[in-house]
Amino acid sequence: MKEIPANELFLKHYDILQETGILQQLNAQQHRIHELEELLSNAVEIFNQRSPDELVHFLISCIVDKFIPSHLVFFFKNHKNDDPITTLCFEQLRPVKPKVVLKTLDDYRHFFSRYPNPIDFHLFEYTVEQKAIANRLKILDPAIIVPLIGMDGLFGLIVIGRKVLGEEYSPEEMILLDKLMKFASISLQNKIYYTSSVTDYKTRLFNHAYFMRRLQEEIAKVKRYASAFSILAIDVDHFKVINDKHGHLAGDKALFALARTLERTLREEDVLSRFGGEEFFVLLTDNSLTRAIQVSERIRSEVEKMRVEYEDFILKLTISIGVNHVNAGRLASENELIAQADKALYTSKNNGRNQITIYNPGFLYKAQHLKS
Ligand code: GH3
Ligand code: MG
Ligand code: MG
Repeated sequence: MKEIPANELFLKHYDILQETGILQQLNAQQHRIHELEELLSNAVEIFNQRSPDELVHFLISCIVDKFIPSHLVFFFKNHKNDDPITTLCFEQLRPVKPKVVLKTLDDYRHFFSRYPNPIDFHLFEYTVEQKAIANRLKILDPAIIVPLIGMDGLFGLIVIGRKVLGEEYSPEEMILLDKLMKFASISLQNKIYYTSSVTDYKTRLFNHAYFMRRLQEEIAKVKRYASAFSILAIDVDHFKVINDKHGHLAGDKALFALARTLERTLREEDVLSRFGGEEFFVLLTDNSLTRAIQVSERIRSEVEKMRVEYEDFILKLTISIGVNHVNAGRLASENELIAQADKALYTSKNNGRNQITIYNPGFLYKAQHLKS
């Protein structure tokens, strides 16, 4: 029998594979693997985003080179029921002012408790009993509604508008959107729960537990890199008088305003927390004693200038501060370091309030002494 040359044999096999459709199938499988790999790497990125805002921007970067929806709107509830619903609205993927404001998601809860999946808007409109809740979203030109479902049920909705150019989403695009938004929903939920677990509800600052964790991290950094940090213990002076004169609501308003003033005066990397009551702790990371004193003085004078309107009254506050500057030579347990800052704070109180005291092993001194 005559031997077929290798290239001819190859062509013959190729033709057979082509005719049987195996090659096309292989191609399709390769394409699918590529898509899954892309989805997997996007999922990892989605979980790595640090805030809901960053997450939303990442999602936009994932879909922008595939298609452009007319609207992309995120509605989600933060951790407490009386918080307003956050709305992030994008028109042709550019941020715009929300076109729809939802006061509550309660109306949507019932529907999505029975159908906890992304749904085509027409189907939603057709199936939902309360037509008003579908009509409310119509201005967003919705194609798909993705429910965000957490441990306590529905906590948000993502509304994906129709494509700008009007054509339908292909089944592959629907699958991609469905998967991306499902990952986004889990990640968003984690972020909301995490934020709520480290936040003091009344002032929106970090809570005591978070402060302690960050303090442990700073102590470890000092051990490893011989860095330095400061703890500021802050307590409102005669706060009881505000409550007694104007009531607890006035006190709460003053605390919230104080939190905003502290926030404004500090840097992003400083850790500002409410320890409880009218007591706040600040961690100044990577700083010198000089900066700790400057920052404390700025805080003290900014608070003194504050004017909080409450009914017909103007409330004024002052604060006392205790500073504990910690470097490698001054390390101790976190509780001891806090107790030292507290000791300096109470010296400020005993010396007449509205002032700063620096803790120093052996003796405490007023900030003014160091400055002059
Ligand atoms: P000092 O200058 O010695 O710190 O006096 P003070 O009145 O601030 O201190 P004291 O510890 O006697 O009183 C603290 C008050 O803070 C009593 C408490 O009712 C009030 N307080 C604590 N937490 C809150 C809060 O969340 N809201 C309101 N409105 N008041 C609070
Ligand atoms: Mg006080
Ligand atoms: Mg107190």
